[in-house]
Amino acid sequence: RFITLEGGDGAGKTTQAELLAAWLEEHGRTVVRTREPGGTELGLRIREMVLHERGHIAPRAEALLYAADRAHHVETVVRPALARGAVVLQDRYIDSSVAYQGVARGLGADRIRSVSDWAADGLVPDLTVLLDLDVAVGRGRVAAARGDVFDRLESEASTFHETVRRAFLDAADAEPERFLVVDAEQPAAAVQRAVRSAVGALVGI
Ligand code: C5P
Ligand code: MG
Repeated sequence: RFITLEGGDGAGKTTQAELLAAWLEEHGRTVVRTREPGGTELGLRIREMVLHERGHIAPRAEALLYAADRAHHVETVVRPALARGAVVLQDRYIDSSVAYQGVARGLGADRIRSVSDWAADGLVPDLTVLLDLDVAVGRGRVAAARGDVFDRLESEASTFHETVRRAFLDAADAEPERFLVVDAEQPAAAVQRAVRSAVGALVGI
């Protein structure tokens, strides 16, 4: 089973994935936790470029860097893990590209979805958990955790992140059967209860 976590910075994707992985393992499932960008050695180099490049990156180049990361990651990590029967829990996937590059950067949601589907060779998640959070609250959490050190994307204006938030919610509205939307302002334990209930139904726990 392929489960992705989406949402803005500070929404708690990593925390929720950790809690979920522990629970799945307690129930005897093999879990592979991974992320995009940066789920492979090559991907880590791409991640470094997209998050820490000091100058401007042409938006189409940025979109293709994420696509390159994804193509390599899906083929070398995700598909092999799924073929072994593992549950793959992944921070960010195509919905991030559609929201950030397609909508917020203005490259077009349909274009970016088609580039991403090509990069991933059509791999679609069984479930996508969208952790929905107020942008200012998310930013506050990142600042508290990292002491005001923001990466290139996190440094975008709050209107950019508001657009991203709206784009994620629109994606969830368009595919309600794939998405679980959770209010990420709740305490982590409450978010996790909602996540476990949906994932339990998917994997038979
Ligand atoms: O969630 P994580 O910290 O791994 O994401 C790295 C950064 O890359 C985030 O700040 C996110 O905004 C950005 N990103 C993006 N487009 C993607 C994936 C991530 O702009 N397709
Ligand atoms: Mg981040």
